[in-house]
Amino acid sequence: MNQEKIPFKKNDALIIVDVQKDFCPGGALAIPEGDIIIPYLNNCIQQAETEQIPVYYSRDFHPVVHPSFESQGGPWPAHCVQDTDGTKFHPDLYIADNAVFVTKGVRFDQDQNSVFDQTGLKYHLESAGVQRVWIGGLAMDVCVVDTVLDALASNLQAILLGEGTKPVTEQGGQSALEKMSNSGAVIYPTDSK
Ligand SMILES: [Zn+2]
Repeated sequence: MNQEKIPFKKNDALIIVDVQKDFCPGGALAIPEGDIIIPYLNNCIQQAETEQIPVYYSRDFHPVVHPSFESQGGPWPAHCVQDTDGTKFHPDLYIADNAVFVTKGVRFDQDQNSVFDQTGLKYHLESAGVQRVWIGGLAMDVCVVDTVLDALASNLQAILLGEGTKPVTEQGGQSALEKMSNSGAVIYPTDSK
């Protein structure tokens, strides 16, 4: 893959959303071609590691009776059930030496799509002096879009890695892209769909 260097700068951070087995082909809630983005993300992660840009990895980690599950009246099949194999990061995903992990989706009373939702990440990034976040991962039209919007709401600049994310549905992906652009996020590279 001929991949340009990401123009990271001081006070940036990279957030890799939910690149877990259950969201990749063969998983409980597989996103079409969810694993195809991994080489692209790995390049971004390795570059960030080299440039000492902090890298955050979120993971969905649900109790077996999570409200987002169809069995509980929610929209999704059961996925990322705590301590099952499906919660693991995809084995091809590169884990940086400076990795920080963020666990979400543990509440019994509501889902947490955004990596910022009640995780304390906003506070942490503020204390670390982060001003701008690059975001990729799964799924573009669910957890990624909500994370991008929450980053903006947290007074951070937000850049979506357009080639490092995939939606559950194409239509959902298109409306997520519009929502992110209209809210002030940058889609990188700027000509990506
Ligand atoms: Zn979930």
